[in-house]
Amino acid sequence: MLYNAKQKRVVLSIWFLLFPTILYVAYNFFPIGTINPLDISLNLLILIVIMMLPLRLESVTLTLERWILFYIFFHYGLIVEMIFMQIGMFVLLFSDKSSTPKVMRFSSNSIVFLLSSLISGSIYYGLGGVLMEQSLGKLVLLGFIYASSYSIINNLLLYINFKYVGHKVTGFLDSVVKDYFITIVLLPFAIALCLLTETLHNKAFLLVGMPCILLLLIAKKYVKSEGLNEVLTSSSEIGHQLAGNLSVSDVLDTFVMKLKTVLPYDNAYIVDLRGEKLVMLRIVEGGHNLKVAEFFDCPDLIKEGDGLNSNETNVYPSRKFIDKLERYDFAHEIQSLMTTPLKRNSVTEGFLFLTSSKKYIFTDLHAKMVDLLAGYVTASIDKAKYYEKTVEKSERCGLTGLNNYRYLERKLDEEMIRFHTKEIDTLSVIILDIDHFKSINDTYGHQSGNDILRAFADLLRQHVSGDATLARYGGEEFVILLPNVDKYDTYKLAETIRKQVDESVFKIIRDLSQDREEVDVHMTVSAGVASIPEDASDAKDLLRNADRGLYLGGKQAGRNRVGMYCNETGVNVEM
Ligand code: GH3
Ligand code: MG
Ligand code: MG
Repeated sequence: MLYNAKQKRVVLSIWFLLFPTILYVAYNFFPIGTINPLDISLNLLILIVIMMLPLRLESVTLTLERWILFYIFFHYGLIVEMIFMQIGMFVLLFSDKSSTPKVMRFSSNSIVFLLSSLISGSIYYGLGGVLMEQSLGKLVLLGFIYASSYSIINNLLLYINFKYVGHKVTGFLDSVVKDYFITIVLLPFAIALCLLTETLHNKAFLLVGMPCILLLLIAKKYVKSEGLNEVLTSSSEIGHQLAGNLSVSDVLDTFVMKLKTVLPYDNAYIVDLRGEKLVMLRIVEGGHNLKVAEFFDCPDLIKEGDGLNSNETNVYPSRKFIDKLERYDFAHEIQSLMTTPLKRNSVTEGFLFLTSSKKYIFTDLHAKMVDLLAGYVTASIDKAKYYEKTVEKSERCGLTGLNNYRYLERKLDEEMIRFHTKEIDTLSVIILDIDHFKSINDTYGHQSGNDILRAFADLLRQHVSGDATLARYGGEEFVILLPNVDKYDTYKLAETIRKQVDESVFKIIRDLSQDREEVDVHMTVSAGVASIPEDASDAKDLLRNADRGLYLGGKQAGRNRVGMYCNETGVNVEM
């Protein structure tokens, strides 16, 4: 919980006012039992041990100290119970780390517990409760009322405190019910200890206190393994989702997004280690709206011993630890950090940095989870890279290095989606076909024909930029896809290319002759142009009509021409 300056002043003032007043009232106006120093010391010891063993269930911290407090209250009175609780809270400050500053945590909890004790204690005495000597029935009944009011008042005050600070309270009712249940379950332990003390005196704690601590130790182990189970389950779920991604960029996006559902981080940074250089790959903005770039600056070069652990995940729970990473500049808001090496074949190839503006936010379990997931990430990245390479290969023409028909088909579909979603207004296409290419092959040989195709591909490349697509359609036919270029500009481009080819000489080595001399080849090209929306409504029609333009207005009209498809007449018009 974050208190602003005014809230801090208010809470501290209330504490300074209430702390002595309530203790004074409890000391002077409520009964105090006969103090047995050994019994008090033993119970205090058990209380301290219990407070050192808090159970973390989801985001709730559970401590089982209440039966001791109730026993102390029944046996020694209000003031002793209050002092016990203040000591217990103090111990908890250190055993259950939190992002709330210790002073604020102590003072606000101190007020809550003092008031809870005072009110429920008053109810107990108001209803006729006394110290020690009373019938079992009366002790059980009044004890039940006392314990119930203690739990309810305590939660009510906690709620007021949350609301005052503006802390978002989720699942509060659920935790109120849990707290009440635990309180009532623990009450019989307090009553049993009261009864046992009467007969066994100082040995009574052996029968209740020791088993309680042993049970707590077992529960702690159980909670830990439950947590580990959860970590394993969610890790493997995320792992499967990662493996389903077919691009590196999707793997990284899925990773940081999924991680967000199980880890309370604000920002994530993926840094790639290239040679000795660190390159920022992904930055994911989290909880707050501050600019991420201002949050973390990493050095260009990584050096031996610069503090980053390249073997396993490291948690830096507070600023004191983060500052030890001297070469890395983390903004002051960052209070917790986790660094995870991303390894392939046992070699660290990058790092994941997770940051939070809260202290002590990352636990050992979180670290284990990220460690596990890091393995999935690198495996998924490898797989995605392999897939991307395979796709890239299958969509490329081996001879010219241009995109092939398969790529063109996919691209056409994508461009049609862009057209329908109004991202682009027009989609134009040019089909180019080398004139009499068969005779070039026949004259100079197939190999030389290939050289010409390569040279022609290079010439075409000079005319394609931005989001235009150039592909080899097949044989000696090529396609240029032009999103957001109108029909007239497309025609002009086709004409420019046609002219350039006509004016060029293609140098080839005669593949059929013995002495392999260099010859200049002159060739021409015909083209067809069509556009969406005027000439076609889908990708197939667009290509078909550009092809018509090519054959009717280019080839049939005498070759070395650009034919523009015309929708209304079905014939081609030359401009
Ligand atoms: P037109 O002016 O009507 O287009 O005549 P053309 O000879 O260019 O057309 P045609 O379709 O009759 O012949 C195309 C030739 O292109 C036939 C084929 O041998 C050749 N060809 C197709 N692919 C390749 C290739 O990868 N390398 C080489 N060298 N030739 C190819
Ligand atoms: Mg041809
Ligand atoms: Mg052809």
